[in-house]
Amino acid sequence: MIKYLKEPAKNVPIDGVFDICVVGGSCTGLFAAVRAARLGAKVAIIEKQNCFGGVATNGLVNVWHSLYDIKGEKQIIGGLTYEVIERLKKRKAVENIGGKKTGNFILNTEELKIELDELAKEADLKVYFHAFFVAPYIEDGKLKAIFIETKSGRKAIMARMFIDATGDGDLCTSIGVPYTLPDKKQPPTTCAKIYGLHKLDRNEFTDLIVKHHEEFQLEKDWGWGGRIPDLSEITFHAETHVFNVNCTEADDLTFSEIEGRRQVRAYMDIIRRYRPDINPVLVSLSSYIGIRETRHLSCAYRLTEEDILYGKRFDDAIANGTYPVDIHHEDKKGITFKRLDGSQEYSVRGEPSVISRWRDDDGYTPFYQIPYRCLIPNTSFDNVLACGRMIDADKGAYGAIRVMVNLNQTGEAAGVAAFLAIKDNLSVKNISTEKLRNTLKEGGSIII
Ligand SMILES: Cc1cc2nc3c(=O)[nH]c(=O)nc-3n(C[C@H](O)[C@H](O)[C@H](O)COP(=O)(O)OP(=O)(O)OC[C@H]3O[C@@H](n4cnc5c(N)ncnc54)[C@H](O)[C@@H]3O)c2cc1C
Repeated sequence: MIKYLKEPAKNVPIDGVFDICVVGGSCTGLFAAVRAARLGAKVAIIEKQNCFGGVATNGLVNVWHSLYDIKGEKQIIGGLTYEVIERLKKRKAVENIGGKKTGNFILNTEELKIELDELAKEADLKVYFHAFFVAPYIEDGKLKAIFIETKSGRKAIMARMFIDATGDGDLCTSIGVPYTLPDKKQPPTTCAKIYGLHKLDRNEFTDLIVKHHEEFQLEKDWGWGGRIPDLSEITFHAETHVFNVNCTEADDLTFSEIEGRRQVRAYMDIIRRYRPDINPVLVSLSSYIGIRETRHLSCAYRLTEEDILYGKRFDDAIANGTYPVDIHHEDKKGITFKRLDGSQEYSVRGEPSVISRWRDDDGYTPFYQIPYRCLIPNTSFDNVLACGRMIDADKGAYGAIRVMVNLNQTGEAAGVAAFLAIKDNLSVKNISTEKLRNTLKEGGSIII
């Protein structure tokens, strides 16, 4: 039995020539594209789904964390995250939980989809939806174009600069950027919006899952749920995990989708059987499974847990954050938080949290930073940048930077950096980080 077929060579039409091509259209990728376009670049953005937003829309995950330091004294995140929140406020599609500066925001993910369309339109982006990045085109040692697969066939997109915002680092790994794929990854979750569970007290929900999970082939696990702005009867749920899968492997990904959906039905069935009066109704599932962790690229700098927890300052800092180190375990059940106030908490569903301190003294870190150098992949190609969850960070640092208000800023920085590299005719490795920080600031980012 032969093992391979040789794909026949063919001419692929060039669909466009751009200054910058962004691959991946979550807020990370879109914000990269918009920031570059606002500076005058001609930008294309490639997204395999039917809308922008990634996990924040297709994944249904509707929480953006606080834009302030941990004391609520100083705003540390601005830019397009702030701008989008302000735009959503006008549509009553966002709410600050608790109304405090340190409070998180909950979003209406469907309104967010439309708002992101508007943002792209205003920036005059060339948008490719239902377009899958499949391969790079390299000529004379230079990345000149990429191939995308679309409904109307394969197309080539030429650009001077490329930004990988695919989450998994599909573009960077295709050109040989080294990466690590941890043995124990933070496992994925299928999220859901469910009608009726608002009638059930959260503790009672937890007790039912703890008591009956085995009967429905679930782990005791850990999960969370939340509200949707202006909608009290439908709630958001991220209650389970699919363990021991590698979501960059096609078979594992397929298995995860099916298993993730089964898990949603299973916990709903527990409620249906043991609290029939609640009668939960499934409103929607994430259109694909929420992937927490896959590849980490090797870049000019690997951010460490220590950098995060002790708030190391960088002269090329392009992002600030406060979200704690948050690790959903694969080797043991539950999750661990290490917070910037020095506290640590380990939680498993239905068990009392184990609270301790990771820090010996009573000091705290108001916020941490992400440097530009974490976005520069270790490659001989000088026209590629990474942003989003693939950027270089160790396990602990990744646990903190992986939330959207942080990664959105990495997108904005990549977009501005790519623009400056073209303008100054420099490699992305050699642009002036002072200029990068100033240009980000002029465009609304908070740069410290
Ligand atoms: C269940 C779950 C709950 C979470 N909870 C929160 C939370 O409450 N708050 C928070 O801030 N963060 C949360 N996170 C983390 C956060 O959502 C992610 O880390 C973050 O969204 C990753 O952003 P990204 O832009 O790197 O990747 P993604 O959001 O995954 O975006 C990647 C984009 O690239 C596209 N793409 C991928 N490959 C290709 C390709 N080959 N061709 C074309 N397009 C491609 C994808 O369709 C997608 O739109 C959660 C994550 C999960 C999974």
